Amino acid sequence: MARSGLSETAPQRVALVTGSSRGIGRAIALRLAATGHAVAVNYSSHADAAKHVVEEIAETGGIAAAFGADVGRADEVTRLFAEIEAELGPVDVLVNNAGITRDDLLLRMDEDEWNDVLRTNLTSQFLCSKAAVRSMVRRRWGRIICISSVSGVAGNPGQTNYAASKAGVIGFAKALAKEVGSRSITVNAVAPGFIETDLTADLGDTAQAALLDRIALRRLGQPEEIAAVVGYLASDDAAYITGQAIVVDGGMAL
Ligand code: NAP
Repeated sequence: MARSGLSETAPQRVALVTGSSRGIGRAIALRLAATGHAVAVNYSSHADAAKHVVEEIAETGGIAAAFGADVGRADEVTRLFAEIEAELGPVDVLVNNAGITRDDLLLRMDEDEWNDVLRTNLTSQFLCSKAAVRSMVRRRWGRIICISSVSGVAGNPGQTNYAASKAGVIGFAKALAKEVGSRSITVNAVAPGFIETDLTADLGDTAQAALLDRIALRRLGQPEEIAAVVGYLASDDAAYITGQAIVVDGGMAL
C-alpha cells in the first residue's frame, strides 16, 4: 500500500476507483481527487503506475493511497475494503472501472477467455458493490458508477465475452439502483465508446480509419472525457439521476 498527501483536515468523501493505475481509471482518480475526494487507487499488477497516480494527486494537494487487489476475487475484495476503511475511511463513491478484453471469435473462444472476462468485468462489480453498499446503507448516502461499454449496448464481433460482461453491467446497475434508491444511493452505468488507452492501443491504421468513419465526431475519445461524466455522477448535482446507462462515444452507437 502506498500513501500520500494525508492532511489533518480529511475531505468529506472517500472514492474507490478500481483499476485506476492506468487509462480511464487513472483519469477518474485524478478527477475525483481534484473535486475533493480522498481516492483509493486500486491496481492488479502495475504497482509502480498506481504509486505514480498517488504521487500526481499528492502534488496537487490531494489525498490518495494505492491498494493492490484483484477485484474479481472475493477474498481480495474483502481485504481491499478493510484496508481502505482503515486508511481513508468507508467508501462513499465506488467507481467499478477495472476491466480486460480477451477478444476471439466465438468458435475459437475457450472457457478461460470467457471466464476471465466475466470475472474481471462483471463479478468484480458485484463483489465491490456489495462491499460498498453495506456501509453506504448505514450512512444513507452513496454513489456507485459502473463502467460498461458501447460493446455491451450494440455488440461487437470478436467480443461475445466482453459484450456479455458489459451488457451485464448495465442490467446490474439498473437492478441495484432500484434496490438501494430509498437510501439515497444512486447507481449508474457509463458506456464509453473508443477511448485512447492501452486497451485500444493495438488498433492498426486500417482498423482505426474504419472506426473513425463510424464515429460522428470523427475522433477517438480521451480518458478525461469519461472522467468528466463520472465526476458529475459522483457529485451532489447528480442526486436525482439513477439507473441510467450514459453512452459517451462521440456518436458511434447512434
Ligand atoms: P486499461 O488502460 O487496460 O486499464 C485497465 C485497468 O484495470 C488497469 O488499471 C488495470 O490494473 C486494472 N485491472 C485489470 N484487471 C484488474 C483486476 N482483476 N483487479 C484490479 N484491477 C484490474 O483499460 P481502460 O481502457 O482504461 O479501460 C477501463 C474500463 O473502461 C474497463 O472496464 C474497460 O472495459 C472500459 N472501456 C474502455 C474503453 C476504451 O476504449 N478504452 C471503451 C469502453 C469501455 P493494472 O495496471 O495493475 O494491470
